[in-house]
Amino acid sequence: MFLSLIINMTKGIYLLLGSNLGDKKANLELAKTLIQQNTGHIKRQSSIYETAAWGKTDQPSFFNQVVEMDTSLEPRQLLVFIQQTEKEMGRVRIEKWGQRLIDIDLLYYHDTMVSSTDLTVPHPGIPERRFTLVPLVELAPDFVHPVLKKSHTALLKECKDPLKVERLLSY
Ligand code: ADP
Ligand code: MG
Repeated sequence: MFLSLIINMTKGIYLLLGSNLGDKKANLELAKTLIQQNTGHIKRQSSIYETAAWGKTDQPSFFNQVVEMDTSLEPRQLLVFIQQTEKEMGRVRIEKWGQRLIDIDLLYYHDTMVSSTDLTVPHPGIPERRFTLVPLVELAPDFVHPVLKKSHTALLKECKDPLKVERLLSY
């Protein structure tokens, strides 16, 4: 009984979308269209948040959004399609954490854990990034992180990231 409760709390495939170049909202919309064409159905989406750039702070703010999706693809196949979508949108990687038309991260694949050179799931940045936790709390406050065994609500409370995250548009 207790185990099934935990399992239900870690169900869902979640992606984080981010853009800080050009028409940021249009970039998010196009990414969602391409994701649905290539990988599966988007079931739910968080608000769009405007967030101060993390890691390399002297660059324009980001628009970030978390989506929950359904897909028959395995995590690694999903990553391939995610990267194709980034390429299709002409993402140019100028520098690590630099400006980007679109960045798509696989945050969770249910309670699956992957640890390899090109893919880590759950995404390791989740607990230290307010711009990821705030939309996750909006969509899935009680989802339990399968490694840290804490809910998004608890992780956000503990998060020390001081950068601003402001809700812009509700969905
Ligand atoms: P970040 O998203 O951390 O700001 P990048 O988008 O530049 O940085 O990093 C992309 C690299 O991260 C890719 O080469 C990909 O193989 C790797 N990666 C590892 N785990 C994940 C994940 N869960 N989702 C997306 N990319 C991942
Ligand atoms: Mg990325």
